[in-house]
Amino acid sequence: MVEDPVGVESALMAAGAAAGKGANLVEWRVDGLCEDEAGFKACRFLVEQSPLPCILTCRIEEEGGQAFGIEPDRPGLYRALASAGVMPRYVDIEAAAWRSDRELRMAVGELIQTDDCGLILSTHDFEGRPTDLARQLDVMWAEEDVSVVKVAWRARSIRDSLEAFDLLDEAAGPMIALCMDRFGVMTRVLAGKFGGLLTFASLGSDQETAPGQLALQQLRDLYRYDSISPSTKVFGILGDPVEHSLSPLLHNAGCRESGFDGVMVPMPVVEGWESFKASLACMLDHPSFNLSGMAVTSPHKQNLSRFVEESGGTLTPMVHRCGSANTLVVLPDGSLVADNTDTQGVVGPMKQVMSLKGARVAMLGAGGAARGAAIGLLLEGAEVVVFNRSEARAHELVKDVSDQMGGTVSIEYQSGGPKATDGFNAVINMTTLGMQGGPAPEASPLEALGGSVDLLNENVVVLDAVYSPLQTPFIRQALDKEAKVITGDAMFLAQAAAQFRTWTGQAAPLDAWKSLMP
Ligand code: NAP
Repeated sequence: MVEDPVGVESALMAAGAAAGKGANLVEWRVDGLCEDEAGFKACRFLVEQSPLPCILTCRIEEEGGQAFGIEPDRPGLYRALASAGVMPRYVDIEAAAWRSDRELRMAVGELIQTDDCGLILSTHDFEGRPTDLARQLDVMWAEEDVSVVKVAWRARSIRDSLEAFDLLDEAAGPMIALCMDRFGVMTRVLAGKFGGLLTFASLGSDQETAPGQLALQQLRDLYRYDSISPSTKVFGILGDPVEHSLSPLLHNAGCRESGFDGVMVPMPVVEGWESFKASLACMLDHPSFNLSGMAVTSPHKQNLSRFVEESGGTLTPMVHRCGSANTLVVLPDGSLVADNTDTQGVVGPMKQVMSLKGARVAMLGAGGAARGAAIGLLLEGAEVVVFNRSEARAHELVKDVSDQMGGTVSIEYQSGGPKATDGFNAVINMTTLGMQGGPAPEASPLEALGGSVDLLNENVVVLDAVYSPLQTPFIRQALDKEAKVITGDAMFLAQAAAQFRTWTGQAAPLDAWKSLMP
C-alpha cells in the first residue's frame, strides 16, 4: 500500500525484501496516488523500479480501496503509463467499473494491447457471498479482454472456502478465488492445490490489505505454500477458536521433516452439532479436497465421535471409553476412524519416568481432560483418587469411568485436598488453575483444593496439563520440592505425536517439535 509519493522508496525496499523471502509478484496498491501528475509519476517510478513483476491496483472505496477523500483519475493514470511505455504485468480493475466506465476501458485498452500487460477483472464483497456470484463470473469470463478473473468475498463459514475451490476447479482460464476473514484462511493456503493463479501475502503481520491475509513468512515457512500441489493431503485443526492452536506449527513441521506430502490448515467451526456436521460433510464430499485427517478440539470432541458413529465409521475403544474423540482419520477408501490420543498425552510422558502399575495418582480436576487422563491411568493399572471443586462433577466422573471400565478398577473421590499421609506417587493437575487467561492464573490447584504441598518430594511425579505458561505456580512448587516434573508441553507433544503417527505412519520428529514450542 503506497499512500503518497514519499512512500515510494520504502515500498520498493520492502518489495525487494519480499522478493528475497520468495515472493514472485508484487501488488502495488496505489489507491491514494491516482489523483494528479505527481501521483502518476510516483506510479511510473514504482512500476519501472519494481524488483518483481507487478500488479498495479488503484482500488475504489466501494470495493475496499483506501483512497479516502481522493477522487481517483484512473484513466489518467493508465494513459500516463501507456504513453511512457511503462507496463505492469497486470492491472486490476473491478468488473463493475470496467462495464460502466467507457473512458476507463479505453485507457486500460492502451496498456493491455501488448502481451506484456494483462487485465485482472475483479469483484470483492466484504459482507458475505455475493448472491449473484455465478452471474458475475459468467459476465467476467465472457469479457474478451480479460486475462485473469478474481473473486474475493467474506466467508461466513468454511463451506464458503470450499465453494472457492470449486470455482478454481471449474475455471475457464487463470483465476484467483479467495475468501476473506478467519473462515477463509484455507483458501489463502491452498490456492495452488486447486490451480489458483496466486495467493496474496502481507509483508508482516500488521500489514494486511484484506481481512485474513497471512504474512509472507507464515505462508512460506509455516504452511510451505510452494510445496502444496493437487496431490497434497489436507489435514485440519477444527474447533473454535483455533487461531492460536499449536497444531499447525507442529504437524506442518512434521510433514516437512518427514517428507510427507501433507498440510494442516485452521478450520474454525462455530459451536453446535449442525455446523459441525455440515462443515465436515462438505469437506468429505468435495471431490478434490483430499481431506485426510483432523485434530479436533473444543467444543467439537463429542460431535466428532457422534459424526463418525452415525456415518458408519469406526470408533476406537478409547473413544468408546472417553465418549469423545480428538482425532479423525480418513482412510484411502473414504471410511472414517475416530480416535482419542488425549489419554496418551498423560500416560506416555508419565510412563517415561515411573511405573504406573499399582501407582497411586492424585488427580486434581474432573473436567474433560481429567476424564481421558483417568481412563488412561486406569488402563495402565494405576489407582486414581479424584479431587475437585465441584463434588457432584467428581462423583459423576467416578461413576461414568467405573461403568466404562467394567467396575474392576480403582477410582474414587476424596474430599479435601491430597495430603502427605495419603501416599501418592504422582499428582496431576487437570484443572484450569494456573492457566494464563484462566480463572486463577496465580493459583496452585493443590492448595486451592485444600491439599498440602508437603506431599511433594523427589519421589513424587507432578504433571500439569496447563501449557500456557509452562512454569505454573503448581510446577514451581513441585520444582521447589524437587519432585519429578512433567510440564503441559510434554502432554501436548505426546498427544500430537500419536496423531502424527496415525495419519502418516511415521514417528513424529520430537526434537524438532520441542525446539518449536513457544
Ligand atoms: P474443563 O472441562 O473446563 O474442566 C475444568 C476443570 O478445572 C474442572 O475440574 C473445574 O472444576 C476446574 N476449575 C475451574 N475453575 C476452577 C476454580 N476457580 N477453582 C477450582 N477448580 C476450578 O477443562 P479441560 O478441557 O478439562 O481442560 C483443563 C486444563 O487442561 C486446561 O488448562 C487445558 O488447557 C488443559 N489441557 C491441556 C492439554 C495438553 O495437551 N497439555 C490437553 C487438554 C487440556 P469444577 O468441576 O468444579 O468446575
